[in-house]
Amino acid sequence: MAVKVKWLKRDLNRFKKLILAKREDSLEAIDRAKKNTDNILEGGSVNAIYSSHMADAGSDHQEREKAFYWLKREMDYLHYLERALDMIDDGSFGICKDCGEKIPETRLIEVPHTTTCYTCKTKIV
Ligand SMILES: [Zn+2]
Repeated sequence: MAVKVKWLKRDLNRFKKLILAKREDSLEAIDRAKKNTDNILEGGSVNAIYSSHMADAGSDHQEREKAFYWLKREMDYLHYLERALDMIDDGSFGICKDCGEKIPETRLIEVPHTTTCYTCKTKIV
């Protein structure tokens, strides 16, 4: 693809700051989620010793699944943010890979790692 348009350095710096802030939040959330998961795991092992009720073991398991699922989602999000930062560095950030136009700012703030504009993403191929 040929890049026809470019974001101004000024704009890119603004996006970078925004993404770095989101990244901070995400890292904190992951830290909290990890602690939460550890707590559930600890609680789980205690329950396994003291509880012979299958129902309790089942809900423990569910809690753990939920915590892991949430943690994984947050880590995926963090990965996307890292990717967006890489894209800022290599100049592909915020440019639609299909039409080569700038991706609207509102969309970039919503989904910083996106590589297509809304029109290209939703168009029927
Ligand atoms: Zn496009």
